[in-house]
Amino acid sequence: MRRIRLRTFVAGLGVLLWPLAFGAAPSAADALTVLQLAPGVFVHLGQQLPLDAPGHDDIANIGFIVGSRCVAVIDTGGSMRIGRALRNAIKQRTTRPICYVINTHVHFDHVLGNAAFREDRPSFVGHWALAAAIARSRDFFLQHYADDLDQPADAAQIIGPDRAVQHTLDLDLGGRHLHLQAWPTAHTDCDLTVLDDSSRTLWAGDLLFRDRLPALDGSASGWLAVIDQLSQLQVQRTVPGHGPVTTDLAAALDAERRYLRALIDGVREQLAQGGSMQQAIALVAAAEKPHWLLWDSTHPRNVARVYEQLEWE
Ligand SMILES: [Zn+2]
Repeated sequence: MRRIRLRTFVAGLGVLLWPLAFGAAPSAADALTVLQLAPGVFVHLGQQLPLDAPGHDDIANIGFIVGSRCVAVIDTGGSMRIGRALRNAIKQRTTRPICYVINTHVHFDHVLGNAAFREDRPSFVGHWALAAAIARSRDFFLQHYADDLDQPADAAQIIGPDRAVQHTLDLDLGGRHLHLQAWPTAHTDCDLTVLDDSSRTLWAGDLLFRDRLPALDGSASGWLAVIDQLSQLQVQRTVPGHGPVTTDLAAALDAERRYLRALIDGVREQLAQGGSMQQAIALVAAAEKPHWLLWDSTHPRNVARVYEQLEWE
C-alpha cells in the first residue's frame, strides 16, 4: 500500500516536473485553440464580434505553418494576450524556431499580438506599404486599444515589418515554400496574401470576408479588381480573414463581389439622384443585409467611404 502511494506520488511529481524538463511547454489553458487544416497548417478561427465588444481582440483568423526548418506565423491577433496564446499553441506543437511573423495588413485585430513574438527574433514581413500604415496607426491603436497591450501601453509594442514585399516574395520554411503577394489598394492599402505551396492553402487576409460583412478601408473598385485576380488562383482551401475556411474560393469571392458591386452601384445611383449620405446609408445595397453579420456596425461606414470617393467623380 505504501509502495503504491509512493509510486503515485512520484508519478504525480513527474507530471508536475514534466513541463520544466521540456522547456516549460505551455498548458492547454494558456494556448489558443487551433485546427490543423493540412499537415503543418494550423488556423485559429476568430469570433464574429463587433470591434468594441469584449473579445474584440479575438475576431480575426490567425495561424501558423510549420516547415522542416522553422515556423511562419500569419497574423498575431488583436492583443498581446492573443499573441501569447498563439505562441503557446505553436510551442505545444513544435520545438522548431519561429523565423517569420507575416502580417496580412495593418488592422489591429491582425497585428497587435506581434510583440508577443519579439523574443523569437523573427523577421516581421509585410506589404511594402505596411510600415507606413503601422506608423500612421500607432496613435490610434494607443488611444483605442491600449488595454490590449502590456501595461503601460507604449508605441514600441506596435511592431511593423522589417522586410517588405514589393510585389511577390518566396519564403523557405524547409521543405515548403510560402508565396507572398502584395496587392494594389483593396480592403486596405497594404493587403498581402500567403500561399503555402505544399498544401495549396491560401491565406487571403481580409481580402476575403465570409459571413461577416466586408469592411472597406481602401478602395471598393480596387477590391473588385483584386477579387477577379484571386478567383483565378488554383487552391485547395482558403483561410479568409474572418469567417469559416472554404474549399470553394470562387463561390466565397462571388458573395463578396456581389456586395461590393451593390455598394458601388447603389451609391452612384444615390449621387445621381441627389440623395444625401443618410439616404444612401439607408437605401444602398439593402437587399444584401440578410446575407451578412454585423451589418449595422459596418455598412454605414462602407457607404460613407464610397460616397466620399465617388462624390467627386
Ligand atoms: Zn482588416
